[in-house]
Amino acid sequence: MALLNSDALLDILSKKGLITQKQRQFITLEKGKQRQKLLKQFGADRKFDKSYPDLVDVIVSLKLDMGDNKDTPLDEDAIMLAVSQSCGLPFKKLDPLNLDIDIVTKTIPKNFAIGHLLLPFNFKNGILEVAIYHPDNKTVLKDIEQANQVTIKPYLTPKSDIKKILSEFFGFQRSISAAEDQFSGPSLGSSVDIGNLEQFVKISSAKEISSSDQHIKSAVNHLFNYALDQTASDIHVEPKRSNCMIRFRIDGALHTIYNLPKAVHSAIVARIKFLARLDIAEKRRPQDGRIKLSLSGGKEAEIRVSTVPVAFGEKVVMRILDPDVIFQDLDVLGFSQRDRIVYNSFIQSPHGIVLVTGPTGSGKSTTLYSTLEKIATPERNIVTIEDPVEMVHEAFNQISVQPLIDVTFSTILRNILRQDPDVIMIGEIRDLDTASHAVQAAMTGHLVFSTLHTNDAVSSIVRLRDLGLEPFLISSTLLGALAQRLVRTICPDCAESFDIKGSELIKLGFPVSEKEIYTLSRGKGCRKCRGTGYKGRCAIFEIFPLSEKMKTMISGGEAVDEIRRLAIREGMTTLREDAWHKVQAGKTTYEEAMRVTAE
Ligand SMILES: [Zn+2]
Repeated sequence: MALLNSDALLDILSKKGLITQKQRQFITLEKGKQRQKLLKQFGADRKFDKSYPDLVDVIVSLKLDMGDNKDTPLDEDAIMLAVSQSCGLPFKKLDPLNLDIDIVTKTIPKNFAIGHLLLPFNFKNGILEVAIYHPDNKTVLKDIEQANQVTIKPYLTPKSDIKKILSEFFGFQRSISAAEDQFSGPSLGSSVDIGNLEQFVKISSAKEISSSDQHIKSAVNHLFNYALDQTASDIHVEPKRSNCMIRFRIDGALHTIYNLPKAVHSAIVARIKFLARLDIAEKRRPQDGRIKLSLSGGKEAEIRVSTVPVAFGEKVVMRILDPDVIFQDLDVLGFSQRDRIVYNSFIQSPHGIVLVTGPTGSGKSTTLYSTLEKIATPERNIVTIEDPVEMVHEAFNQISVQPLIDVTFSTILRNILRQDPDVIMIGEIRDLDTASHAVQAAMTGHLVFSTLHTNDAVSSIVRLRDLGLEPFLISSTLLGALAQRLVRTICPDCAESFDIKGSELIKLGFPVSEKEIYTLSRGKGCRKCRGTGYKGRCAIFEIFPLSEKMKTMISGGEAVDEIRRLAIREGMTTLREDAWHKVQAGKTTYEEAMRVTAE
């Protein structure tokens, strides 16, 4: 009988103190009960293996406390870790993002892998690393060694992880291989001919890509589900010379997920373009579109699709817009108490201009959308002008600029005031015309939000001046500005504290005292954060309200450095300082603070 399904397992758990004597008796009793139930359900005549049901499954289903250790559940990971220590086999948690789909699916036949719960995940210098569930499955491993002429290094891994990854990878692999066969079959020539493929897709996609493309459909569906599952913000589908590379952006960093056969690239792109209602035949011009996805729990996510022709074909980038990320409570964005009060004074003003600055990907949209949602009431008409509309919200009237037919920020603004808006959000102020319309709107009693591409908050004043806006117009309409960046937050599952000398931090430009020792936090790296030590992101801010003194300075044409000094004297914490506060609070690391606030 397999070790994991015998009293030997209970011995290991008892010896490690993971179960008490009482729990041990309870487990044995429950296993008997569950077996009786199964026999009744499926008929006693059906031959069940004497060991059925699996002991590990029984223990996990009972959701026990770990021995006398309350609040720590005895889960599959804990059980397998204990077994690995007692058998002398290393324990391995697999990260699906770090696995090579070819090694997983092409080394061991599917049925064999699933039947014996084996998952090969790395091959180097003749050594095949295999995640296994049964620690005593030696003969099977010997067979693989002989058949493949390799040496196997086994690792112990929870069964549910092996099963999930196998079914996911083999499922995806099957879709891709089937599609590959279909598209590079004899009728289209055995060599991969992209032109022919595109022809094929074009013909069959007049209405809907024909049902024979089921494989591509499932592959694309899998891609979306997988991306949502991994909380990716972007999916890249990139044509390379000989393959199609799929990458996900997670917490700001790109991870390569799959390298697919080149033959399926055009079909995948065509499927995505179809879903986004783009012109599938048009491959030479960039196109933009969106896809709506229904998620479990009645939630909907939107995917913004952009296609661009590159050297080896069409590249698709998809931005996943999760309403839970875009619309947040203003209190959880990361404002300090002082900054929150200042920002509140902006959004409660009846009129004036509020500017949000920062580079692309600094979270400006989340701040603006969350703000608009907060102030949206039935009595208020909120109009947004965007390029393009990022996330649709029924409480706003959203207009997309369309430069091709001369519908621009300024042409819309010219007409919008007749629509009787109370609050206007302008996606970006890029030229004097737009800036002038914004000022005009603010002067006629509207609250205007917009973004500018500047590095810091105070520079927004200079940018408006550089666009050609009269200083007195700036000082009479601007309520204030904020700059923001996103820092990755420390993974709560592997956070640890460490000491660092003040003198080290001073060298990096942090406002600390040289003599002191500081206790900061960092993530050790665990499976939940893919070894990065970070999980999720939060914003850091610098924000200033336009004071009377500042207005005089602006009208007098003072240099930006002078105005910034005044803003700091009046209480503005800079991005670097705000980041440092978040480092001290254990939310992020000093390295991350350095990275995003480096000039
Ligand atoms: Zn972690």
